[in-house]
Amino acid sequence: MKKTSYKELGLVNTKAMFAKAVKGGYAIPAFNFNTMEQMQAIVQAAVETKSPVIMQVSKGARKYANPTILRYMAQGAVEYAKELGCKKPQIVLHLDHGDSFETCKSCIDSGFSSVMIDGSSLPYDENVKLTKKVVAYAHKQKDYVTVEAELGVLAGVEDEVQAEESHYTKPEEVIDFVSKTGCDSLAISIGTSHGAYKFKPEQCTRDPKTGKLIPPPLAFDVLKAIEKKLPGFPIVLHGSSSVPQDEVDTINKFGGKLPDAVGIPEEQLRKAAKSAVCKINIDSDSRLAMTAAVRQHFAEHPEHFDPRQYLTPARDNMKKMYVHKIMKVLGSNDKL
Ligand SMILES: [Zn+2]
Repeated sequence: MKKTSYKELGLVNTKAMFAKAVKGGYAIPAFNFNTMEQMQAIVQAAVETKSPVIMQVSKGARKYANPTILRYMAQGAVEYAKELGCKKPQIVLHLDHGDSFETCKSCIDSGFSSVMIDGSSLPYDENVKLTKKVVAYAHKQKDYVTVEAELGVLAGVEDEVQAEESHYTKPEEVIDFVSKTGCDSLAISIGTSHGAYKFKPEQCTRDPKTGKLIPPPLAFDVLKAIEKKLPGFPIVLHGSSSVPQDEVDTINKFGGKLPDAVGIPEEQLRKAAKSAVCKINIDSDSRLAMTAAVRQHFAEHPEHFDPRQYLTPARDNMKKMYVHKIMKVLGSNDKL
């Protein structure tokens, strides 16, 4: 593929978007996508709510869908948003959990407007070195590409990212890290976690009435300490699906088996969105919304076999979830 700047595709980077979000006390939704239906649902929700949006692609998505196809889908997303009546869509195409300089470079060269380099599993100095290298390449482009870095380790499993235990970000490291690397935003660990099983039952309490798990609260003291060190600097939360229990119940009711799936309560995300947290990553909730709708559809229409029959309610259910997140959790509606 010939080298392309994201501006040619109609995409934007995160720079101005994050500055506005930090000032305005809201967060930009970062939704992962790897299918056409997810892409359509994300664009429909963003246009309907007049929200900026980050469409992100993980290593697993690149493997599943093919990097070239995803890049053209993002270009298609911009055109689709215009067709739906949005004159100036603000859509970011972002690489989620880039694991090497080469992956980041290939995304930047093919038209991504933002990349994450995740050196969080490396020793501190190596994380600094790798992040700095990606930042240098991203920032020297004709059109500035923004870079998200990570300090601290999140627990959980999602695509190729997995860790047994989480380690909170150390507030005493953030100034040194950000000034040495020049990154544009920082993903931190304050108790969120990847996947639909964010916490083990022994980390939670149980609601005596429903028997549902109640997860431990996020470490807002750590977030506050980081904000104090880096006033106004854009902070990112990964692993921030809420694992809506009505979707989990639907899945289980129609033959699924997701016992004790648990996420981050939406009130806590809303509280985080009002702080320097200006990007909140949501992936599992879209998977759950899709699966719940498909399972219910098959249970009610065993005679159906046309994918359009079961993917239409799946797409609608995802869109409903995205709209809900934008309006009720992140507060990014009417910010175009
Ligand atoms: Zn993540």
